[in-house]
Amino acid sequence: MLNQIKGKPAKYAKFQKYNLPRQRKFGRSIKRCRRCGQTAAHISKYGLHFCRQCFREVAPKIGFKKYN
Ligand SMILES: [Zn+2]
Repeated sequence: MLNQIKGKPAKYAKFQKYNLPRQRKFGRSIKRCRRCGQTAAHISKYGLHFCRQCFREVAPKIGFKKYN
C-alpha cells in the first residue's frame, strides 16, 4: 500500500493525514509510563506516573519501603 503511493507526494500526504494515530486529549493512551511508555497498569498516585513494572524497579531509589 505505502510502496504504491511513495512516488506520489500529494497522495502520500493525504494518506498520512487520515491514517496517523490521533493526538488525544483524554483516554488510556495519554496516561503513559514516563520511564518506558507503557499504557497498561499505570500508577498516577502521588504523581508517580510509572507503570507497575517500572515502579517495582525504581521504588527503593525514590524512598518506598516494603512492609511485610
Ligand atoms: Zn514503565
